[in-house]
Amino acid sequence: MQDKKLIFKKGDYIFAMVVVSVVLVLFLTQLNAKQGNQVRVTVGKQTETYSLTENRRISLRGKMDSQEQASSDGVTNVLVIEDGQVYMESASCPDQVCVKHKPIYQDGEMIICLPHQVYVEVDNDIENDIDN
Ligand SMILES: [Zn+2]
Repeated sequence: MQDKKLIFKKGDYIFAMVVVSVVLVLFLTQLNAKQGNQVRVTVGKQTETYSLTENRRISLRGKMDSQEQASSDGVTNVLVIEDGQVYMESASCPDQVCVKHKPIYQDGEMIICLPHQVYVEVDNDIENDIDN
């Protein structure tokens, strides 16, 4: 009985191959994913760009739902840039989808607050940096 436990079954090899393949694919995907260096924030028709290297907290005044209790200063979303990552710290939207979204940092990743028409997208601006 003990000998049998030491011998790999054919199924184990296949399983190992699958695991190795998955790890390899994940690793290559990570290598290909470009780290963004700026974040583009669109509120309604206005777009602002912020650097990801600077930690900051941005108060956004998005479209207010008629059902919503407007805060006195009109701030609907608070976006935070911290250690190269971006996340929605708080929002007054009913669904809270944007707040629950994981922090983003890779080129092309987005956080959207649909009720407020707030779009946050990580972008890469390497070409412009080389020019400087
Ligand atoms: Zn939201």
